[in-house]
Amino acid sequence: MTYSSKNIAILGAGLLGRLLAFELANVGCRVSVYDKGSPQSPQSAAFVAAAMLAPLAESVSTEDSIVRMGYYSLERWPKILDLLDEDVFFQQTGTLIVWHHQDTSSAQHFKNQLNKTTEYLTHSHLSQNLNKHDLMQLEPQLSHQFEEGIFLPEEGQLDNRELLNALLKKGTQLGVQYQWQYAVDLEQFPANTFDHVIDCRGLGAKSNVPELRGVRGEVIRIYAPEVELTRPIRLIHPKYPIYIAPKRNHIYVIGATEIESEDDSPVSVRSALELLSAAYTIHSGFAEARILESGAQCRPSFKNNLPKIMLHKDLRFIHVNGLYRHGFLIAPAIIDCLLNILLENSNPLANQLDIEIQDLSYDHIH
Ligand SMILES: Cc1cc2nc3c(=O)[nH]c(=O)nc-3n(C[C@H](O)[C@H](O)[C@H](O)COP(=O)(O)OP(=O)(O)OC[C@H]3O[C@@H](n4cnc5c(N)ncnc54)[C@H](O)[C@@H]3O)c2cc1C
Repeated sequence: MTYSSKNIAILGAGLLGRLLAFELANVGCRVSVYDKGSPQSPQSAAFVAAAMLAPLAESVSTEDSIVRMGYYSLERWPKILDLLDEDVFFQQTGTLIVWHHQDTSSAQHFKNQLNKTTEYLTHSHLSQNLNKHDLMQLEPQLSHQFEEGIFLPEEGQLDNRELLNALLKKGTQLGVQYQWQYAVDLEQFPANTFDHVIDCRGLGAKSNVPELRGVRGEVIRIYAPEVELTRPIRLIHPKYPIYIAPKRNHIYVIGATEIESEDDSPVSVRSALELLSAAYTIHSGFAEARILESGAQCRPSFKNNLPKIMLHKDLRFIHVNGLYRHGFLIAPAIIDCLLNILLENSNPLANQLDIEIQDLSYDHIH
């Protein structure tokens, strides 16, 4: 079967659904996407996310496979963005880690974990310890608050909303048919009219993938014209890593909480206080910032917090899920792996990057 004769349905138009639709349409497949929401996708985890691409910073609390998927994807993102017509904010100017004096022992733990990761990575210039003078060179506005820091120069970030919009536009231009306000119920879905049905509904797939769970994350978006930070800053914090990700035009995303709950109701007062106070301790200029919005969503996660591709025997039905807090970090690796399976009938990336592939033994399709 040639690519162009494949007729593919994608369920969900969040991060995975849009990226996959674009990639498949780009190689000539006929693609239809069904999403329960609207083109802006405010109900997706992708809409709320900070979209940092930080494999090494994440390595402190995740598996080696995520780090490898992250580095693979860091190389892939600029190539993907080059194929889109809209300009998407992307930068790879590193992550800066800082901590307050009382969190020095947590910082030491962070350094120890980093050292373990860098031992098995072949990249150079992975991590640099900074003194006050180095901090002054890198982020002058932070050098008054902090005596030292860690710089991870290869890390990046992108603008999630610009990306979602650009993927939608390019996909539509390539012929992808988007059906909005279409909440898929697999029992009713006309799966037999497609060669492949690929389920990218995130936590919305839980009724068919019961082992999924949601991990609530809250963020606050602010406008801070007095603050000049040029790269994502992570503050080592006793509860969860707090970050400030600068986007275009003095907009900063402050996040994110990590709560074992599937509650996606608005941000709590406690979380808002914690996030905003932490930001204020990083830079007092945030005191005069304007709060543009706050948002909460659940990260779709499996028990081990690792992603999984689940294949029906004849590839007619596929679930891709469990990207947890790493969706932007690893999506290109996951999508390339899936494309290998779908279009080339091989999966070298799955072995190279340790992406879990599971054969489904049950049948959803009527
Ligand atoms: C607060 C927060 C911060 C984050 N920060 C980062 C970060 O800095 N870096 C990073 O790499 N990752 C980050 N993430 C994680 C990232 O956002 C997710 O891993 C990623 O969005 C998962 O992609 P997905 O396509 O599987 O799910 P989603 O993006 O959630 O998309 C699922 C889509 O399916 C649709 N859907 C659901 N049910 C149905 C149904 N029945 N029928 C039709 N459509 C349906 C939804 O409307 C939605 O559009 C963050 C997440 C959160 C919540």
